[in-house]
Amino acid sequence: MSEDLLKVKNLKTYFYTENGIIPAVENLSFNLKKGETLGIVGESGCGKSITSLSIMGLVPNPPGKVISGSIEFKGKDLLKLNEKEFNAIRGKQMAMIFQEPMTSLNPVLTIGRQLTEVFETHEKMNKKDALEKSIEMLKKVKIPYAEKRIHEYPHQLSGGMRQRVMIAMALCLSPELLICDEPTTALDVTIQAQILDLIKEVKDQFNMSVIFITHDLGVVWEVATNVMVMYAGEMVEYASRKELFTNPLHPYTKGLINALPDIDKEVSELKVIRGMVPDLTNKPKGCIFRERCDYQTSNCELNAPPVQDFNGHLIRCCNVKMV
Ligand code: ADP
Ligand code: MG
Repeated sequence: MSEDLLKVKNLKTYFYTENGIIPAVENLSFNLKKGETLGIVGESGCGKSITSLSIMGLVPNPPGKVISGSIEFKGKDLLKLNEKEFNAIRGKQMAMIFQEPMTSLNPVLTIGRQLTEVFETHEKMNKKDALEKSIEMLKKVKIPYAEKRIHEYPHQLSGGMRQRVMIAMALCLSPELLICDEPTTALDVTIQAQILDLIKEVKDQFNMSVIFITHDLGVVWEVATNVMVMYAGEMVEYASRKELFTNPLHPYTKGLINALPDIDKEVSELKVIRGMVPDLTNKPKGCIFRERCDYQTSNCELNAPPVQDFNGHLIRCCNVKMV
């Protein structure tokens, strides 16, 4: 068995706002092995981005703060590092790409300037070598006419090309962990498929572990080795990709799978999960999902369900028994 690169244990990240305390991530635990792609899926607002920002040490503070837990990366608890020690890891050993590359790319600098700076600063390369290396990176992410494109500004590129540049930037220093936060959500379906293929390809090429965040289970099916389903800041189910899709146990996961478009189904048959995500400042007692659950019993109101472990298939639901 390959070893764990990342071990997140009982992570709690809260936001302290005028409207109250928001437990954006509540008691979250999961491991990520070398070479694994973990898909994190859940509706908007369920804590996916805050989970990744907690790992990257980038939770906006204030109002947010990691209040307890541990995040072990290669055996070191990231929460115990000072800013200087964290900076030595961020970008180099772990990197992140976001949904909207324009928020991360500098609009007034050419792509080349932004890439070469990474090599000049971190690898102490001279300008010529940095430019050569930058062009090589653009070729790795399959940007056509890389020698010409490198002199363009971000706004001159299409959304798909910009996302390729972001991936190239993230890969510059050969990180061991790549966190992708909805990297294809803003793209057309065909471009989305190309970017997913690219991420799979560079993952193998650079021998990385990947955390892939998405609200779309269809995308999880394409990329993930294992899947964690989050709901209202908590993990509700965790399993291998195949197990999750063939034997989903949590009513929320079942709802997400039922809501997937199926080419054999009439569109009118598509099922949506009724109700809405609870207000996190005022979470319901007992099971967080119970208000939307078709299988609710009086039990669900009494206690928050503990995590049950069925041979590595984890589930947080009182009514599930493995048969
Ligand atoms: P998503 O799963 O869509 O990525 P996020 O992780 O971004 O969700 O957010 C989880 C929750 O954290 C949100 O529902 C929101 O209530 C809260 N949150 C996120 N960012 C902030 C912020 N800057 N200030 C206050 N609350 C925030
Ligand atoms: Mg998000």
